[in-house]
Amino acid sequence: MTCPAFSGRGRPLVDGYGRHVNYLRVSVTDRCDLRCTYCMSEQMTFLPRRDLLTLEELDRLCSAFVARGVRRIRLTGGEPLVRRDVTALLGSLSRHLDAGTLDELTLTTNGTMLAQRAQDLAACGVRRINVSLDTLDPDRYRTITRRGDLAEVLNGLDAAQSAGLSVKLNVVALRDVNEDELGDLVRFAHGRGMDLTLIEVMPLGETGHDRAARFLPLDVVRHRLSRTLTLEPLAYRSAGPARYVRVAETGGRLGFITPLTHTFCEGCNRVRVTCAGQLYTCLGHEAGRDLRAALRGSEGDGLLHDAIDDAIAHKPSGHDFVADRISGPAIARHMSVTGG
Ligand code: SAM
Ligand code: SF4
Repeated sequence: MTCPAFSGRGRPLVDGYGRHVNYLRVSVTDRCDLRCTYCMSEQMTFLPRRDLLTLEELDRLCSAFVARGVRRIRLTGGEPLVRRDVTALLGSLSRHLDAGTLDELTLTTNGTMLAQRAQDLAACGVRRINVSLDTLDPDRYRTITRRGDLAEVLNGLDAAQSAGLSVKLNVVALRDVNEDELGDLVRFAHGRGMDLTLIEVMPLGETGHDRAARFLPLDVVRHRLSRTLTLEPLAYRSAGPARYVRVAETGGRLGFITPLTHTFCEGCNRVRVTCAGQLYTCLGHEAGRDLRAALRGSEGDGLLHDAIDDAIAHKPSGHDFVADRISGPAIARHMSVTGG
């Protein structure tokens, strides 16, 4: 039993390797309106709703992290916008922005519902969002997402920009799927004033698709892009693991996230919480801490801070993804559960 006087409240989150955790990603749902082939299987069994953290629990949890020095919160999923009360959560969390204890409240979305929700997001203090879009070809989009309508996402991008949101596109580079249009995606994004980040496919969860066949090292992509575009290395670092270049021809920024081909863990400043309240201090490790039990176990936040402290103290030095073992899932849980 923790005495409130000795609870972790106020102490910064520093792990055993001296890394300061100041970035929280929270999955607000494991559900999604799409079934991207690299992320989910066609038939997914989603968690029963009672297992999900309630809006109040999510607020309490995020606020506990803010009290411990977390400066950025990203809501993700599944698809965060399929959860109707997500704007209420954002609206409530925006008090930390107003108080100056949080620098950024943001989300990662597939963009299908942005046309309806972008204004609300902006009104809740969201300034930047990441939108995942792997192709500009409607048929390809439907194949990759197994059901999506590209036009909805394009309308969503328009709505987001009209609402004043700054947009970054996330593109998973997929061999034989979108490798021939990565340059076009860069020109498209930069032409609209959006940054773009390329991501290597990671072995998370069974999807019914052979990810080894789709794995495309970004070294290769970068080499190919540099035949037609001038890529100038940038010192700029975002809160995440991406390395950036400036594309001279477009003036835009292009990021590379290479979990499989390069270790990106030395500077890791983030932890993730699933929609059921499991805290994962590393995307590539199975061990999590049950924050839902801590939340539901007491009205005060002492248990919660104890669980957070224990998890941070055991944050692994890095993930063990290995490119030549990508065919099976290295980690059984899907990206949609942990939150990308
Ligand atoms: N539904 C939202 C979306 O798609 O943006 C948010 C959740 S999604 C899990 C977050 C990000 O993870 C997306 O950019 C998606 O492309 C990426 N992602 C999903 N599964 C992945 C995998 N196995 N390897 C690499 N990236 C993955
Ligand atoms: Fe849904 Fe995002 Fe996963 Fe695609 S990547 S299935 S949009 S959660």
